[in-house]
Order: sequence, then structure tokens, then C-alpha cells
Amino acid sequence: MAAPNCVFCKIVAGKIPCLRVYEDPSVLAFLDIGPLAEGHLLVIPKDHAERLEDMPTDILAHLVRQLPPLARAVLKVTATDSYNLLQNNGKTSGQEVPHVHFHIIPRKAADGLGYRWLASSYPAGRGEEIRRQLVAALA
Ligand SMILES: [Zn+2]
Repeated sequence: MAAPNCVFCKIVAGKIPCLRVYEDPSVLAFLDIGPLAEGHLLVIPKDHAERLEDMPTDILAHLVRQLPPLARAVLKVTATDSYNLLQNNGKTSGQEVPHVHFHIIPRKAADGLGYRWLASSYPAGRGEEIRRQLVAALA
């Protein structure tokens, strides 16, 4: 189902052009129009879902199964051995288009890309507290 003002739904419908790389009945992969590197792919479900956890799990599983061959193609064509798989959910995470998408971003040495990985640690007991809350939230 398409959302009327969604740019990715318009791409799926062919109302906005894209450079299509792969397509099947439920998944579309195309070149990001604002690539972080040549070969930067977006992989999306054809049916609109804003966030990963909104997706039907069978469609999500099917999409994820397409990632390895797409990643291998990106690595081959860009002649590199590394890539980032990035998937943002929510504005604060950096999600700019509210339609689930996975980025496959090929990486090369000294490409200038990166992210801040501000690792911290849990104060005594806090890790166990968070673990317990997560286990309870899954119940
Ligand atoms: Zn959409």
C-alpha cells in the first residue's frame, strides 16, 4: 500500500524516476540520488512502512535475504571489500524519508566517511537493570 506523499512510494510507482538495480514483487533496490559513495544503494519494501518494526516480518525477511547478493554486487562493481549496512528509524536516528530503507554504502580507505562511535560503559548494576527491563519488555 502506498502513502500519498511518500517519495519512495512515488519511486515504486514510477512517478519519480530512479536508477533501478533490482526489483521483485515486494522489494526495490536503486541508487541513492545523493550517494555517500559510488554504488551507494537503497533497498526498500515496495509497500509503505515507516519503520522497521512496522513491517510484516515475512516481507522484512524477504528483503533481508536480498541484501547479501546486492552487497556482493556493490563490492564487485566498486572494487572494494568493505561496506556499511545502515538502517535508520525515526528522525533522531537520521531517518530522512519515512519509508523503511536499508543503505548499502561501499567503503574505501580514507574515503572520509565515518560516524562518531562514542562508546561508554554501564555503572555498577545498571547493565543488569537494563537487561531485566528489556527481557520484561519482550514478554
Ligand atoms: Zn512510502
